[in-house]
Amino acid sequence: MQLYSTKRVSPDVDLKEAVLKGLPSDNGLYMPYEMFHLPPSFFEALPQMSFNEMAIEITKHIVGDDIADSDIELIINSAYNFDAPIVDLGDIKILELFQGPTLAFKDFGARFMGRLMGYFLKDSKDVVNILVATSGDTGSAVAHGFLNVEGIQVTILYPKGKVSDIQEKQFTTLGANITALEVDGTFDDCQRLVKSAFLDSELNQKLVLSSANSINIARLIPQSFYYFWAYKQLKNKSLPLYFSIPSGNFGNLTACLFAQAMGLPISKIIAATNANNIVPEYLASGLFQPRTSVSTISNAMDVGNPSNFARIMDIYSNDWEVIKDDIIGYSFDDNQTAQCIQDVYKEKGYLLCPHTAVGYLAMEEFLKENNGAANAVVLSTAHPVKFGEVVEPLIGEKIEIPQRLKDMLGSDKKSIPMSSDFNQFKEWLLNK
Ligand SMILES: *Cc1c(COP(=O)(O)O)cnc(C)c1O
Repeated sequence: MQLYSTKRVSPDVDLKEAVLKGLPSDNGLYMPYEMFHLPPSFFEALPQMSFNEMAIEITKHIVGDDIADSDIELIINSAYNFDAPIVDLGDIKILELFQGPTLAFKDFGARFMGRLMGYFLKDSKDVVNILVATSGDTGSAVAHGFLNVEGIQVTILYPKGKVSDIQEKQFTTLGANITALEVDGTFDDCQRLVKSAFLDSELNQKLVLSSANSINIARLIPQSFYYFWAYKQLKNKSLPLYFSIPSGNFGNLTACLFAQAMGLPISKIIAATNANNIVPEYLASGLFQPRTSVSTISNAMDVGNPSNFARIMDIYSNDWEVIKDDIIGYSFDDNQTAQCIQDVYKEKGYLLCPHTAVGYLAMEEFLKENNGAANAVVLSTAHPVKFGEVVEPLIGEKIEIPQRLKDMLGSDKKSIPMSSDFNQFKEWLLNK
C-alpha cells in the first residue's frame, strides 16, 4: 500500500513508515492511494459476516500485500471483542460505538493502531517509547490500545486534579507497559513536556520516541469498519442512508468518506459540531477560518482547527461546490444540547452523551427538510456515564456504571508525581 502526503512534497511511503512516522515532514497528512471499491462479492457476503470477518476483509482490501493475511487476522481478532449495535429509536437510529474498554469510539482506532505498531516493530531490538499528553479521553484510549503490546512502553502525562475520576482511573490502573505521570501543571504543560522531549537531541539519541497522534492513518483505517457494520444491520438497505457524525478533529467523518470511496452507498453525510463550528461555516460560505476553541459540554469536540480538514480537502480536490452537496453541516450550542438530552430521555427513554446529542440534533434538523423514509443513523461516540457530571443533573438520576468500568474504578491508582519542569521529566525518561 502506497501513501502520499497531502502537501505532495514529502515522498510516498509504505504503510509501515506512515504508521511509525505518523506525520510526513512537509507537515501534510498521509493519505492512501488505494481506496478502491470493495468487490461485489464483499457486499454479497456481508449479511453473513461477523464484525471481525468483515474488518479482516476490509483491511486486506486496503492494506494489500503489506501485511500477510494471517497477521491481519491476528491483529483484528485481538483488537476487537466488542460490538457496535444499532438501537432503533423510530425515525432515528443510534450506532453505539462505546462498547469497547474505554467507552468511546476511539477504542476502534487506538486498538488497531497499537497492534499494527506492535506488528511493525516485532523484529526491532529497540523498545519504542510512546509519549502522550492527555486532558482525559485520548490517554485512556491509547493506554488501552497499547496495553501489553510487546516492544512498546507508553508514558501518559496528565494534569494533576484536572481530569475526572473516571478518566484518571482508566489510565492509571493498568500497570504493565503503561506508566502515568501526574504532572503538577496544566494540560498545556503536559503538551509542552512531550513536545520538548521530541525536540531534545540527547533523548532522541538514547531512546526511540514516538507519538500516538490522532492523525495517524492507523487510527482512521479501522474507523471505516463500523460504517459498513451499521449498513449490515439495516433491515431495508434500499432506503437512502444518512450518517450524522458528531465531530471535532473530523477523523470520524474522514473515515466515513473512506467507507464511501470503498463503495458503501451513503446518500448524505452530516457534519455535526458544537459552538466550534468552523467546518459548518466552511460548508455554508466556502471560507475556512480556524480559530481558538471555546469550551462546551461536548468537550471532546472543542476543536478550533480540525486537523483532518486537510484530508477532506484532498479527497474533494479543494472543490467547495462538490463538498457542500455531499456533506451538510450543523452546529448547536450547549443549551440546545442539554435540552436534547432531556427530551430524548423523556420521550424515548434513551440517554445520549453530550456529543451524541449534537449528532442527534443535526439529524433531526436534516430530516425536517428530507422527511421521506430513510435509514437515518447517528453515531454515538461515547457512553453517557463518561460525562455523568453533565448528564446526571439534566435527568435528575444516577447513571448505572457498566461492569467493565466498575472493575477499573475498584483498582488502585498508580501514578508518578512529576513537576512541570522539563529537566525532571527528561531525567526520569533517561533513568527509567
Ligand atoms: C474524539 C471524540 C469526538 C470527535 O471525533 P473526531 O474524529 O475528532 O471528529 C466526538 N465524541 C467523542 C466522545 C470523542 O471522544
